[in-house]
Amino acid sequence: MGRVMQDVPEKVQKSVLCGTIAVNCILLLCHISFGILFYLYKAPILFYFNCFSIIIYVLCFELLRRRKTWAYVFIVFAEIYLFMMLSIVCLGWEYGFQHYCIGFVASLVFSDYFVVHSKKVRKRTIWLGAANVIIYIILRFWTYNNPPVYVLGNNIISNMFYVGNTVAGFAFLIMYIAIYSDTVMKLESELYDMANKDHLTGLCNRRQIIQVLKMLIETAAGEQFAIAMLDVDYFKNINDSYGHDAGDEVLKALANILNDEKAENEAFQPSRWGGEEFLVVCGYNGNKEDITELFETIRKRIADNTIIYGGNEIKVTVTIGLAIYEPDKSLDELVKEADAKLYKGKESGRNQVVSGMGEE
Ligand code: GH3
Ligand code: MG
Ligand code: MG
Repeated sequence: MGRVMQDVPEKVQKSVLCGTIAVNCILLLCHISFGILFYLYKAPILFYFNCFSIIIYVLCFELLRRRKTWAYVFIVFAEIYLFMMLSIVCLGWEYGFQHYCIGFVASLVFSDYFVVHSKKVRKRTIWLGAANVIIYIILRFWTYNNPPVYVLGNNIISNMFYVGNTVAGFAFLIMYIAIYSDTVMKLESELYDMANKDHLTGLCNRRQIIQVLKMLIETAAGEQFAIAMLDVDYFKNINDSYGHDAGDEVLKALANILNDEKAENEAFQPSRWGGEEFLVVCGYNGNKEDITELFETIRKRIADNTIIYGGNEIKVTVTIGLAIYEPDKSLDELVKEADAKLYKGKESGRNQVVSGMGEE
């Protein structure tokens, strides 16, 4: 998990950090409760150790703020093991502190060993697991041969501790797996976005829209859809006059207009094809003229829109080439047709929709 974490996107790292801070709060609360109990039951060694642990967990918030996650993990495990060993030596086997060991080994086996396919991590898991088993056996023998330092009272108290520690051991396991699987899932969705979304506009990218088109063509006997290629007119002038950042802002504004349409029309799927070109896939019902009309509306919406950036009022227009899918057309032919129509629109004055219907 460690090696993977270094390459984890910021958003996922933040969510792991929040989970870890919550865990730290829980551990702090546990030690405050243990501290009070050991004070009440007059077990001074354990009371002082808990005071020390409370200080450690308060300091750990600072460690987490500085994002020293590995130092944190090391300190937490060292503290839990010291606490477990000391508690078993002081109180004996009947209080259930040994269940932390079981929880830890189970977490390692379930997550690190089975999920991470790295030899190094597996080797580490085996060593840590073996160390745990040895610690467990040594402690068991210790309690056979040595009487406990403290007897806290009657059986009810030891039973209470036993149940509490068993639950804590399992909570440890569940917490570990929850944070782990949450990270893996968030990472997966982040990687999916990175591969399929355009970074600047948030629209789906060329790769993704090609997948959509391939799927439509493969499954769409009788399905009616068209593609539209939109290209910003004289976009180079915008960059030259107002700067590249202003150009980026214009692209985002266009993406917003396309997304507004998508929100109202689920058959409308916009994408950033590249540079200042957008490709929209749009389904329609029966009437081809409807689709021309729709893109005419979008063209007008873009032309009427004013983008305010750096104190400038920027207006842009787009030229749109429209190609209707027919069952005998390949993906390549469809895109080429939309491109050719776009080019035609550019040649005949820009700021228009070229559908070419009635000409073929
Ligand atoms: P036309 O009307 O013929 O389409 O003219 P144009 O100026 O839009 O076309 P041209 O292909 O000459 O220029 C496109 C420009 O788009 C060139 C490139 O610098 C700019 N561009 C491409 N991608 C981006 C981007 O992500 N951000 C910004 N700001 N500019 C971009
Ligand atoms: Mg272009
Ligand atoms: Mg252009």
